[in-house]
Amino acid sequence: MKPSPQRPPGQCGTVPGGARLFHRLYTRLGCQGRPPQFTVEFYPYANLMHTIRIDDDVASVRISDILQGAPLVVFEAAAAILLGRLYRRRAPAELLFSYRRYIAAPRTRRRMAKLRGARGRRVKTGPRGAIYDLAPMFTRLNRRYFGARLHRPRLGWSERTWRTQFGCFDPALDQIVLSRWLDRAVVPQYAVEYVLFHEMLHVKHPLRAARCGMEAHSRRFRQEEQRYVHYLRARKFLDRLP
Ligand SMILES: [Zn+2]
Repeated sequence: MKPSPQRPPGQCGTVPGGARLFHRLYTRLGCQGRPPQFTVEFYPYANLMHTIRIDDDVASVRISDILQGAPLVVFEAAAAILLGRLYRRRAPAELLFSYRRYIAAPRTRRRMAKLRGARGRRVKTGPRGAIYDLAPMFTRLNRRYFGARLHRPRLGWSERTWRTQFGCFDPALDQIVLSRWLDRAVVPQYAVEYVLFHEMLHVKHPLRAARCGMEAHSRRFRQEEQRYVHYLRARKFLDRLP
């Protein structure tokens, strides 16, 4: 989190025709029952990976943005792979073949290498700082504010002291990093917890093309943020932190 948010560029977002495509593949694979409602988004994963999550009857799909501009058959293959995993159905061989050929192509490889390089580094420090341990803090916040259902990314402290940024969630690396500057005895626990809570909200509401240093907060995000019990106190403290 940063004091003054900026808008990220809109390079990601909804996959055009994605929901229809998943619906079609759902039928083609012979999945049983009423199909869920699909939301399909590009997501800035560091690697070529896609995910699907079912919540009630909504299936949230994240397709690696490496596939942006890929032929239709590659999207169909990605959908077949994800649905196949979820509903124990075999993805059609011809789709898998097209998918493998696409990801093995030199152009795709180059694109992957470039994106991976641009997407920062894995944090090497663990969750345990000199004063604060982010792991139990995460568990507590998760239980209290997220019904213990939030996925836990890698947690760590910045190697160098960041003074312009308190924390960052990087979806590509799946990690939350807090500024080492906060891992000091003069910083109260509620302030550290608030920054972690803020980043956890970013895990829950991922930004499009999110990168450290680029932030956007919707009104809903801001409202949810105020649920943190020491919200005002923490903001006040951080605003004055030298
Ligand atoms: Zn933020």
